[in-house]
Amino acid sequence: MQLKVYGNEETVGLVRRMIQKDREQRSVMIHGDKGLGKKHLASYIAAGYLCSRHSGEPCGECKSCRMIMHGTHPDVIYVKANPNGNYIIDESIRPIVADAAVMPNESRYKVYIIPDLDRSVSTAVAVQNILLKLIEEPPEHVVVIMTARSKEVFLPTVISRTLSLGVSCVSEQESTQYLKENYPQADDADIAAAVSAGRGNIGRCKAYMQKESFFDAAAIAREICEGLLTANEYSVLKAVFAADGKKQLARESAELFAEIARDAAVCCVGSAEPEMSVSCYEQGAHKLSTVLTPSGCERIYETAIDCVGRIDANCNLPLTLSGFAAKLSQVVKQKGK
Ligand SMILES: [Zn+2]
Repeated sequence: MQLKVYGNEETVGLVRRMIQKDREQRSVMIHGDKGLGKKHLASYIAAGYLCSRHSGEPCGECKSCRMIMHGTHPDVIYVKANPNGNYIIDESIRPIVADAAVMPNESRYKVYIIPDLDRSVSTAVAVQNILLKLIEEPPEHVVVIMTARSKEVFLPTVISRTLSLGVSCVSEQESTQYLKENYPQADDADIAAAVSAGRGNIGRCKAYMQKESFFDAAAIAREICEGLLTANEYSVLKAVFAADGKKQLARESAELFAEIARDAAVCCVGSAEPEMSVSCYEQGAHKLSTVLTPSGCERIYETAIDCVGRIDANCNLPLTLSGFAAKLSQVVKQKGK
């Protein structure tokens, strides 16, 4: 892992000033969409706090920074959830509170990083209630950093005592720079394709480069869009059914298609500022906005979100997908009127 944060200058500046003024916040929450680098920022903050040069930014060279880069620092503890994303209170949270009383091994602070609190649907509140003791009156040497997609997961009592940091998309130039630095062997065309799909979301750009599920889901979402643009019902159906039998892929592609529809809706009403659009198919969204009315775009957006909801509710997948394809085609037939 590199200790470098792309974009997010304001957040990085704030962290730097805290360290330089010896005012390290001891309880931090980081929020932002998947792929924007929440966990990475948490490690970056931990490294900045513990870096022996104490300059405000991790130097990347001292022993502490190197151990954090290798994931072996004894005073940076990444708390683990179970495979479903839930924190088991007695296994992973209570032990932290007990361990927090023990002095750090070799640093000024012991940093506990608790990622993806929002994925811990059944225990997110319990986790925070137990951590509240640490957050309210932390021992001198304790730092707690939590991450979640949305700030809404955090309890008001936690929010009021915690520094809240948002992570946001970076520019496409920064995504390109990231990929060039991290995939020096890749050719420019592959990098351009990954940036065009992942846009300013570095996690997505990476997933595209590595042909992870985002790669397939983006291909499906784009094909659905193409099918709608050519008003070809069969193409839409074929694209949607490429995810049949694969619940997660179906969910992810419907979500990505919803983003295309949302971008198209934004385009329709004329506020087509580039930074407003986020989807994996900017061109397709733009074309859709010329074919459909704003309410048509809204309807296909709602249809996609409804499809995601049905998948989450464990509805029959083939039925959900055929309903999704049929509703999309219907909107196009009516030209979104
Ligand atoms: Zn360092």
